[in-house]
Amino acid sequence: MKPLPFSWTHYDTFTTCPRQFYGKIVLKKFKEPETEALTWGRWVHEQFEKRQKHGCPLPQTLKEHEPFMTALTDMRGEMSCEEKVGISKDFKPCGFFDKNVWYRAAIDFKKLMPQMAYIVDYKTGKPKPKWGQLKLNALHTFMKHPEVKAVKAEFYWTQTKETSSQMFYRDKQSEMWAEFVPNLKQMLECYRAEEFPPRQNGLCKAYCPDLECEFNGRKK
Ligand code: SF4
Repeated sequence: MKPLPFSWTHYDTFTTCPRQFYGKIVLKKFKEPETEALTWGRWVHEQFEKRQKHGCPLPQTLKEHEPFMTALTDMRGEMSCEEKVGISKDFKPCGFFDKNVWYRAAIDFKKLMPQMAYIVDYKTGKPKPKWGQLKLNALHTFMKHPEVKAVKAEFYWTQTKETSSQMFYRDKQSEMWAEFVPNLKQMLECYRAEEFPPRQNGLCKAYCPDLECEFNGRKK
């Protein structure tokens, strides 16, 4: 079975449970309901992008984020917003839609300075940092911009208007990749064997859509 390109969400789903990953991502058996939270999150991202890219004023409901938006605008460096990026199967930076793309991401905000980059991910849900996503995007930044020696990666939590940040360094790339390699190898092995075993976890009891799984607690 040919492996699909993966995003952070795909990777996170796989590490939680390969079986759920197979049903949700590979077979697309379970449709995510279009929740208010999802619609809101998408709309906020669009408004922030318009504010940064075109200088459009934020709508009244988002005005409270203007100080953070201004801080981003005022920061020196070359800006990009909602940049769609990719890493190819041979570990090179590539386009999001390229044929040999393996990792795909959209970087909400990036400022590129002479030897440093600053990347931001806007989060409209409850503050709960999962650093893997920003770590992968920092790794992509190191690949794409050989002059960058350090990446400051930040979550902006819109519910609290707070940030959480971490620094990543070029000379620590191997250690950073080491976090992902075992799971990525296992993912490739699952595709090869066409077997995606269940992995019991906290979602089984009440949140997993796979009602056919023996561990699903929502089965009647
Ligand atoms: S019920 Fe649990 S083990 Fe089964 S597919 Fe869902 S998450 Fe995986």
